[in-house]
Amino acid sequence: MQNVPTGLFTGGKWRPAASGAVFDVEDPSAARSLCTVADAGADDALDALRAAADAQQAWAAHPPRERGEILRRAYELIHARIDDLALLMTLEMGKPLAEARGEVAYAAEFFRWFAEEAVRIDGGYAVSADGKDRLVVMRRPVGPALLVTPWNFPLAMGTRKIGPAVAAGCTMVIKPAEQTPLSMLMLAQIMSEAGLPDGVLNVITTSRPGEVVEPLLRDGRIRKLSFTGSTQVGKLLIEQSAQQVLKVSLELGGNAPFIVCEDADLDLAVEGAMQAKMRNMGEACTAANRLYVHESVAGEFARRLAERMGSLVVGRGTEPGVDVGPLIDEAGRTKVRELVGEAVAGGAKALVGGEPVPGDGYFYAPTVLVDVPADARMMHEEIFGPVAPIIEFSDEDEAVAAANATEYGLVSYLFTENLRRAFRLSERLDTGMVGLNKGVVSNPAAPFGGVKQSGLGREGGRVGIDEFLETRYLAMPLS
Ligand code: NAD
Repeated sequence: MQNVPTGLFTGGKWRPAASGAVFDVEDPSAARSLCTVADAGADDALDALRAAADAQQAWAAHPPRERGEILRRAYELIHARIDDLALLMTLEMGKPLAEARGEVAYAAEFFRWFAEEAVRIDGGYAVSADGKDRLVVMRRPVGPALLVTPWNFPLAMGTRKIGPAVAAGCTMVIKPAEQTPLSMLMLAQIMSEAGLPDGVLNVITTSRPGEVVEPLLRDGRIRKLSFTGSTQVGKLLIEQSAQQVLKVSLELGGNAPFIVCEDADLDLAVEGAMQAKMRNMGEACTAANRLYVHESVAGEFARRLAERMGSLVVGRGTEPGVDVGPLIDEAGRTKVRELVGEAVAGGAKALVGGEPVPGDGYFYAPTVLVDVPADARMMHEEIFGPVAPIIEFSDEDEAVAAANATEYGLVSYLFTENLRRAFRLSERLDTGMVGLNKGVVSNPAAPFGGVKQSGLGREGGRVGIDEFLETRYLAMPLS
């Protein structure tokens, strides 16, 4: 692997934090420090913003084809370094190498998609209603953007923002999560090699996100915030963005229901549940958090799911044959342990798992729970771990009411072989996305996002670039 940068990247240069401070990046499978990276303060962040603001005008004027070609070259370079990027991601985040490779490939797809979108930014020309004026509509980049990303998908949550920002002609400051800065730093190096001009993309790593992000949001030069992370922090950032009336997009938490109807193909449903639950060790905003299964098939479904979950190999993500890596940190594991403990105290039974895995690292055993009380905390909060609570239902209305009884609305999963029921329930489920007989909905060509407290705006698809564009209208009389 070539040297991984550990400094701040501002104005096309790598440099230490102004204070010289660094912080540790930990390997969650060993609970040990991997390395240190620069620990930015507010002055470093403002320096990054200055670089982004200085580069904005020239970058907006850069030909769209060239912006697209830089993304396309970055896509190729990511693939050329897929092994290095995957290893780095496994080391800092914990997911098994095969999954890390999958994420790197998925992350690169956003660059391929938005390389194609860069040259499809269009406008309009219309005759006014009275026939006298011509109305010309054009799109322009919103301006310097602040991108804040979470640790669970260290690369893809970044490229899903960087891709459309580059395509639209926005410069940016990126702040990756403190747990997983290395993947983003390596990506910045790749973007630079792909020909991205200095100052277009700036990366600041910090152990004090609140102190660094707030001054940026209060500075009038930032015009856009794109955030992926928890609903709690998202709400705080909406408040802070109000000061300068920023254009805001937010991908926040989820509490996905996974509904298995009596007419479902059970093989498909169990496979879908494994994907929806176990992708990323359950640490995904899209993770199936509550499995509602019709009473006529619940016993069989639970038995088969427990068998599959019990056969998964838990271990260090770099070891061959490992299916499930560690959770991100002790706080994440403690939360899972508490949620399971509370559900079991309330009457839930573990068919498999139910305990942390002893030893170094933050491992937790894949778990299936039945007889989970409706008021258990895990029914209302993101579990963010490999725990599948199963709840029985007896009719469609009951399943929909339970599924919608949450402040979140990111994704739901629905398994049925009945076409009319599939459409009927899909329309009644209060989420931005529905996986119909499918446990993974993520796709760079699709609009990803949630309703209610799961967020604002969409990433990916034809609409993803809109989040980084503004509409300008020009009024013109012909005579
Ligand atoms: P988090 O909200 O703690 O952190 C996300 C980012 O915000 C990190 O970069 C962090 O450093 C930063 N941050 C934390 N406190 C901040 C503050 N006071 N001011 C400014 N920035 C701050 O979330 P997390 O634990 O990293 O990620 C997990 C969460 O992200 C889950 O809720 C998950 O559902 C959500 N998520 C959502 C999506 C989606 O597309 N909807 C995708 C992935 C993750």
